Amino acid sequence: MLLIAAPYHELDPASYDASMALIPLDEAREYVLTSCQRLPAVRLPLWESLDHVLAQAVTAPEPVPLFSSTAMDGFAVRSSDTQDAPVELVVIDTASAGHPSTAELEPGTAIRIMTGAPIPKGADAIVKVEDTTLPPDDPSGKRVVVAHPVKPGAHVRPRGESLLQGDEVFPAGTLIRPAHLGMLASLGMDEVEVYKLPKVAVLSSGDELVEIRDTLGPGQIRDSNRYLLSSSVHQCGLEALDLGIVRDDKDLIAQAVSLGVDKADAVVMSGGVSMGDFDYVKVVLDELSRGNMRWMQVAIQPAKPLAFGLIKNKPVFGLPGNPVSSLVSFELFARPALLKMAGRTHIHRLHLQTIADEEIVVHSDGKLHLLRAVIHQASDTQLHLRLAGNQGSHLLKPLARANALALVPSGANISPGERVEAMILDPEEVGVTND
Ligand code: AMP
Ligand code: MG
Repeated sequence: MLLIAAPYHELDPASYDASMALIPLDEAREYVLTSCQRLPAVRLPLWESLDHVLAQAVTAPEPVPLFSSTAMDGFAVRSSDTQDAPVELVVIDTASAGHPSTAELEPGTAIRIMTGAPIPKGADAIVKVEDTTLPPDDPSGKRVVVAHPVKPGAHVRPRGESLLQGDEVFPAGTLIRPAHLGMLASLGMDEVEVYKLPKVAVLSSGDELVEIRDTLGPGQIRDSNRYLLSSSVHQCGLEALDLGIVRDDKDLIAQAVSLGVDKADAVVMSGGVSMGDFDYVKVVLDELSRGNMRWMQVAIQPAKPLAFGLIKNKPVFGLPGNPVSSLVSFELFARPALLKMAGRTHIHRLHLQTIADEEIVVHSDGKLHLLRAVIHQASDTQLHLRLAGNQGSHLLKPLARANALALVPSGANISPGERVEAMILDPEEVGVTND
């Protein structure tokens, strides 16, 4: 049995304002999301539009495809000529992609044709090359024997099959993925109207933090959160602006946050949001936001403390310093908010029901526990879940192993084989096994 104990500082009543009630996760997230607005639209070259959201519906300026063409290599024919097949036809020309034939089919004739070539005048069907032979008495290719009758329209990709002129290609709000980019390119759209992606300033605060190349002095640790959080920003498809490490000093914190809101669309900072003696972030953010900052104690474990508010109308996230708490907080609050700013509609991670492969017990503390977990698809095609190791919120290795967070309510006692809800962090790393 694995008993998940909350880290000491999260249980210590002296480290928090006892009057501060725990807020349910949904309520805290709703507050954050309501405060974050979609950014304005910009016109971008098509090349740069991947992972952006269309701000305007796109309509077809012309039918797609623009001309009827063949889907197969073979012979363009008049289908009526093939009704009594096998039948011999005279080959009068050759057409290939980019080289249309200008000839017109008369009864009894065919045109050799390659995939993508326009359907010649007079033809209404394609006979696949596999369904033809050369006449035994004439191997020159000037005549062809069609083995079976073909129906009108066989292997023809008709003009306007996909879209007629003026049809909606994609509605506003569509996320541009490679296939959308390809479609827009096929319509000749070299620019698109999309919502701007937020640029996100990332900074770490704490006197104990040093850059990763520096030699560690007594009590010092390397700043891992900036790497963790900036790369999470990148994984959202967004640009991170690195604001470095800031000492536990009111003026320096104020300078860094002010720079962040001037240069970026949102600020994500970690550390200093607890109630420790040197946690100045609260004082500074309260001042800079003119009291607009909200200090929340969210009913989750880890990542209970969250500071969130607008400074100069830009969202500022004060995440807890413990690396696991920082990432969980980013996942739950910052990620959906940043995606909303980018105009995205699917902003939450996928939640799935899994089967616990081991007993999971959490104590009764009124919080939703988000446990680092590994899920995999087993031979029963169900998703199975195991915990990824020690659940301390300072431990990065189990977090790195995890591809999901198990959502376990306060006081739950889940037996092996029972259901457990999981939030998928890394869908590409969900393995499929035979066990
Ligand atoms: P704080 O939220 O500032 O009270 O920090 C809580 C814990 O997280 C402390 O043990 C800090 O040393 C640690 N911590 C804070 N910021 C970072 C960071 N950027 N990288 C790694 N650990 C951190
Ligand atoms: Mg600190």
